[in-house]
Amino acid sequence: MSSQIQKIFEAQQARSIQLRLSTAEERKAKLLKLKSLIQANEDEIYQALATDLRKPLFEAALTEVYFVYGEIDFALKNLNSWMKPKKVKATLASLSTRNKIVYEPKGVSLIISPWNYPFQLLISPLVSAIAAGNCAILKPSELSSATSALLCKLISNNFDPSEIACFEGDASVAQELLSLPFDHIFYTGSTQVGKLVMEAAAKHLSSVTLELGGKSPVIITEKAQLEKAAEKIVWGKFLNAGQTCIAPDYILLPENMQEKFVQLVQQKIEKFYQQNGHLDKALYGKIISIKHFERLKQLTETTLKQGAQLSFGGNFEVNDLTIEPTLLTEVAWDSAIMQEEIFGPILPIISYQNLDEALRQVNARPKPLALYVFADSDTADKVIRHTSAGGTAVNDVLIHMSNPHLPFGGIGPSGSGSCHGFYGFKAFSHERSVLYQGAIDFNQMVYPPFNMGLLKWLKKLF
Ligand code: NAD
Repeated sequence: MSSQIQKIFEAQQARSIQLRLSTAEERKAKLLKLKSLIQANEDEIYQALATDLRKPLFEAALTEVYFVYGEIDFALKNLNSWMKPKKVKATLASLSTRNKIVYEPKGVSLIISPWNYPFQLLISPLVSAIAAGNCAILKPSELSSATSALLCKLISNNFDPSEIACFEGDASVAQELLSLPFDHIFYTGSTQVGKLVMEAAAKHLSSVTLELGGKSPVIITEKAQLEKAAEKIVWGKFLNAGQTCIAPDYILLPENMQEKFVQLVQQKIEKFYQQNGHLDKALYGKIISIKHFERLKQLTETTLKQGAQLSFGGNFEVNDLTIEPTLLTEVAWDSAIMQEEIFGPILPIISYQNLDEALRQVNARPKPLALYVFADSDTADKVIRHTSAGGTAVNDVLIHMSNPHLPFGGIGPSGSGSCHGFYGFKAFSHERSVLYQGAIDFNQMVYPPFNMGLLKWLKKLF
């Protein structure tokens, strides 16, 4: 254990006891300080995101920085009401009492984040941790090293490490941190590492929020508006070069719609990402590392060998880690690309003859983080009732995560717990039950010696 990590953890444990008493105004002041810090360093943040993932400025602003401003502003506006104890009713068993739920800070929290939205996925949970009155240690991803270094520098230079600290490093640093008895662990990343995080948390019975991944299907049905669907899917799939946890992973659509859909998707890719017939890299991100690039290349080659057809794209440029938007058709359910989360700009399309059969295939697989459906409202409701997923957008993709009134999270292998807005505040809070006994204490009626008459009366009541 590095002595620095141990020292800061202990300092945060001591500080967290004082932070329990922090007022809404004090927490808001800290959120405003965070917002000003981001505002003052926006250009550097965009630069770092461009270095790590070649994020176009517009995309970086919208999906990373402005998203976090939205979370901060929402917390500033609602914190007083979130922190207010919620009165609840009494029942017969607690007659004569007053009852409330108090949102108590969990204490010292650990936030581990991935590389794909390296700014948003580190800072948005921090907003919730601050709002809930927690201390926090942050561990950003080593793969998005420019953004991680910048964020750790900004945090270390501007916040007291006994309240907020940041440690750069790889899995070994994460493991060191995970060996400590945190009050809450907020992990965003792969399902595989999520299991290790839960195992480490179990040693101390630390509570966890796990924001994981999975294969998020898009189900297109007979009554879908195909052109709109194609446009939205192209946007959601190829944003950040497909490296989005809730990106459409694969498409299911009626067999008779496939040809038209492929044509529309091609047109939209050309419209969004091409100039004079060539990919315009100023509008399109790159793959994070050579390892991920090779994985995606291998996955595509194997799937093609297994009988899939390349309908569009297929260019893999290793010199700048660019993979052209790529469409695969005639993809079999048991092909390589259908066995793991793609997390890159390759879109497999599978046709179906009957919606029930398509739903059966979806349900035979791990519960996804998102499930999208393009349909009329009755069919959409049928799909929602017959499936399970972290979240769903009907006739759209991704944007359910932009509404802070909705909880964001997975289910089972795609995660547990949720974040954003009040749900993020709740993740870092303990909902403590508080009961005040009144002057007339009916509870005495159940103390020995036992009153069997009372039992008879209760029996009638139930
Ligand atoms: P990653 O490799 O950067 O790992 C995430 C974090 O875990 C990093 O900070 C890393 O240092 C740490 N880590 C890696 N191995 C570890 C280990 N053995 N023990 C402890 N910590 C370890 O990112 P990733 O996991 O490749 O991220 C991609 C995945 O994240 C995808 O599956 C994606 O769907 C998912 N994701 C989910 C969300 C969400 O909100 N649910 C958001 C973004 C990404």
